[in-house]
Amino acid sequence: MRITTILARILALKQTRIRAAHLDPEGLVLDVAPTTRVPICSGCCKRVHAVHDTYEGRRWRHLDVASLRLWLRYAIRRVRCPRCGVTVELVPWAEPQSWFTFDFEQHVAYLAQRADKTTISTLMRIAWATVGSIIERVVARHKPGDPLDGLRLIGVDELSYRRHHEYVTVVVDHERGAVVWAHEGKDAATLRAFFEELGNERCAKLEAVTLDLSAAYIKAVTDASPKARLIFDRFHVQRLAHDALDTVRRQQWRAADAEQKDAIKGTRFALQKNPWNLTDVEDGKLTDVQRTNRPLYRGYLLKETLARILDGGQVNVARDKLRDWIAWATRSRLPPFRKVARTIKKHIEGIVAYVATGLSSARSEGINGKIRPITRRSFGFHGPRSLIALIKLCCGGIILAPVHT
Ligand SMILES: [Zn+2]
Repeated sequence: MRITTILARILALKQTRIRAAHLDPEGLVLDVAPTTRVPICSGCCKRVHAVHDTYEGRRWRHLDVASLRLWLRYAIRRVRCPRCGVTVELVPWAEPQSWFTFDFEQHVAYLAQRADKTTISTLMRIAWATVGSIIERVVARHKPGDPLDGLRLIGVDELSYRRHHEYVTVVVDHERGAVVWAHEGKDAATLRAFFEELGNERCAKLEAVTLDLSAAYIKAVTDASPKARLIFDRFHVQRLAHDALDTVRRQQWRAADAEQKDAIKGTRFALQKNPWNLTDVEDGKLTDVQRTNRPLYRGYLLKETLARILDGGQVNVARDKLRDWIAWATRSRLPPFRKVARTIKKHIEGIVAYVATGLSSARSEGINGKIRPITRRSFGFHGPRSLIALIKLCCGGIILAPVHT
């Protein structure tokens, strides 16, 4: 049997003829061609008859054969399309803008759902930024129905990336535990774009939206879906207290004498942790803070108490306790906490609504816990589009299989 025939069997590339095989320093190079004689326009996918006189030699990376890099080589025809003008023909093994075959891209995306950066780059022998562009294309090809259909209970969240200078807004379907929408930015306009895509009819079907306490998001939600209940989930509320505590810590540090500085030093994480996760050393640190720095310790107690209130399951109890907390924080002589108290007071019904709904904290924590490492993993990608694609790939319910012929 001829080598080209064997390779054709092994690779099983659709509508592709293998003409010759060569070994060169970069690996195994196959000369291929589409089986269709009439070229297809890569712009509109229609057959075009007028072949422009130039050809463009290209190489596409395909899956390795016996750990040897495999390349498809073909002089792509330039075509004159009545609709698209002069463009190149469509090839059956790859997307017009890609230098990788469909199979190669699917394999990379399958790995990106499961493996870390180094594993993928080393195994597939491609740069991490290239992985980003590949998954953008795979996610765009993967369209299993409209993810925005049937939404009732959604969550809106912002993610920071690139050292917290840039943001992506993410919309989650709480019922399916999947990301249904993501876009660059974190202002009202970003979220309005989501509601525009959703359309009036589907907006009206939203029953509840969990979100953080940012005025921009709140306005966008109430404008688009006035009947949806606003729910401020506990993580966002607690984040306010965490940030306030950190501000207090920094203020106390600046005003402290030597002994107090010593007590504050290295407490940042101990203060933010749940008490049951503290190490003995951290526990000792907090005791020092309690002894030498009453305002900082008061902040710590405020933060902890707020968390315990939100642990509760009864709306009326939670509401009463929150009111007590607001009064305490207002008297605390800690301006950052007084500010938090004002915010909580303003949105108290939305905060106790969290306690009232069946929205388990484990659920939104689960999806958030999945998205955050992805944000860290996206470091090295060219831009937010790759990050968004990775989020959709890993949290959007996309099911992929490895390529096996
Ligand atoms: Zn065309």
